[in-house]
Amino acid sequence: MRPDVLQEQDDLPPESPISAVSILFNGNPLAIWIYDAITFQFLDANESALSQYGYTRVDFLQLTLSDVVLSTQQPSLGSDDGDRVRSQANVVQRHLRSDGTQIDVAVRSNDVSYGGRPCKLVIAEDVTERRHVDAELIQMAHHDALTGLPNRMLLSDRMAQALSTAQRLKHKTAVISIDLDHFKKVNDWYGHAIGDAYLKHVAGLLTSRLRGMDTVARMGGDEFAIVLGEISTVESAGLVGKMLLQALNKPTVIGGYTIQPRGSLGIAIYPEHGSDMDEVWRCADAAMYRAKRAGGNRYIVAGPDASSSADDSAALDKRLREMLEKERLLLHYQLQYSPNDAVRGMEALLRMQDLGQGYVSPDRIIARAEDNGMIYPVGRCVVEEVCRQMDSWKSVSASPMRVAVNVSPSQLMRKEFASEVADSLAKWKIDPSCLEMEITERAILNFDEISTEMHELAGMGVRFAVDDFGTGYSSLQHLHRLPISTVKIDRSFVQRLCDSSSSYPIVKAIIAVGHSMKMEVIAEGVEQEEQRTILDRLGCDGMQGYLFAKPMSPEEISQALGKAHPNTDTDHKISPPSIRQPASRQVRSISA
Ligand code: C2E
Ligand code: MG
Ligand code: MG
Repeated sequence: MRPDVLQEQDDLPPESPISAVSILFNGNPLAIWIYDAITFQFLDANESALSQYGYTRVDFLQLTLSDVVLSTQQPSLGSDDGDRVRSQANVVQRHLRSDGTQIDVAVRSNDVSYGGRPCKLVIAEDVTERRHVDAELIQMAHHDALTGLPNRMLLSDRMAQALSTAQRLKHKTAVISIDLDHFKKVNDWYGHAIGDAYLKHVAGLLTSRLRGMDTVARMGGDEFAIVLGEISTVESAGLVGKMLLQALNKPTVIGGYTIQPRGSLGIAIYPEHGSDMDEVWRCADAAMYRAKRAGGNRYIVAGPDASSSADDSAALDKRLREMLEKERLLLHYQLQYSPNDAVRGMEALLRMQDLGQGYVSPDRIIARAEDNGMIYPVGRCVVEEVCRQMDSWKSVSASPMRVAVNVSPSQLMRKEFASEVADSLAKWKIDPSCLEMEITERAILNFDEISTEMHELAGMGVRFAVDDFGTGYSSLQHLHRLPISTVKIDRSFVQRLCDSSSSYPIVKAIIAVGHSMKMEVIAEGVEQEEQRTILDRLGCDGMQGYLFAKPMSPEEISQALGKAHPNTDTDHKISPPSIRQPASRQVRSISA
């Protein structure tokens, strides 16, 4: 059927219009009608058109275009909009049937002259069913049959859209990879029907918690993915992760069984974790696996390491500021032992909980604080907190404990540092000799800038230790110009003590020269009994490491001190591991 044939004829003979048109009309399964291009009055229609629209011929010929074509799509009378119908060859319009139902119609229109009047001949094919089937096919191709969620294919479209919007509007977008924990058990224990219902429950739950601009997709099995259309900060993506985890964690009853949903979430953000969505997705997936490996039921924001999740620099700055405003930094403490198994003291280590329930590495916090100028108030706050904590331990410990704090060179370069430390010591009535300051070997290279404050503090009785010794290109000889009483051998040497590429000669030399300079030498990072034996033999004065104890919260330390107290007459005996008792069983905490 080629309507342009009519156009080529240009004018249907006025005296015999019916016969000319009837060639086209009769027996044609497609609906065809002719209407007046000026009044829009229908002038003729074939049987297929009458049955398609549900009218008798008489009734149909009393109608105009506006009775059939939905108002929003019909050309207006008196305008040349009728031409639009022509230019809209093969467009799909919504038409009205006599019973009020609507149908989708693919329309082709051609100008014809009919009885000398300018008219339009329209072929109107009902494509409602076809479109419905098409829509079904599209839905099936892009959605997961069980949950109705977008599938992997649609997700990649949505990711591409999210990326291009983010690039255009210069904002962030995030993807979350979710894997349900123990889904196989649900299937095995309760059967596949319950497993399916559980997946639908999770799908509904995730969808209900997110915004319209976000996409929740099922990747297959128990894997889901989310695209967060627009987020302002990395931290806010972490908050979404937290919120989803909380939502998931509510027990639900399915088929009479109570199921406790749990999931592992990995979150990655564009542009922080990748320049395209494939890369961002890989990061999110890797973070999800880290969350799984860490025991599941948690979320992790992609980052250089798992513990530095849920923060970018700006978010870290903000949290540091908040902690400073509240004047409460979180510190954990790691015990140090003397060779006679007595507790020598402990080291205070800065902690900041990240949003994925792990800890942000203190190295990262300190590096950030150095960068943004907050190192001084942070360091100041650490000293104050340690003094406060030492005061609170007076009631549980027989004699005062020595606590080491890590101090950054920029703190020692400030001329008010010593007097502020003195204030804290006085405020909490702490013997200055119980406070040890750890400075890194590299800090010593700034000898001129730090020596004044160091000497002032040492004059009060505060002790100094050189941390991570052996890594800072300095030499023991330089130390005598500063009031240093302790050297801490870096854990990299301790770890290689028993290897083939042994650090034994270096460790031996450090201990010997340290002693000759009347310094205590302690080893950090002691993890193995064998290392401890060698260090003991070399005359090391103290040891710190996972073999003895991991860093603990103040409460755990209080408990340990409290337990030690009743039996203590001379020393702090906090169940140090002995060679006869495997040390791993003695470690009380895994809080680091
Ligand atoms: P550091 O002063 O050398 O602290 C010892 C680090 O070694 C701690 O890591 C501790 O958890 C870890 N460690 C202890 N025993 C073992 C062991 O047996 N094996 C292994 N593999 N590691 C062990 P953490 O807590 O991550 O601290 C890292 C660094 O962050 C510290 O190194 C210190 O330089 C810095 N830092 C921590 N808190 C503060 C602070 O309040 N102020 C300053 N300026 N720096 C801090
Ligand atoms: Mg240290
Ligand atoms: Mg160290």
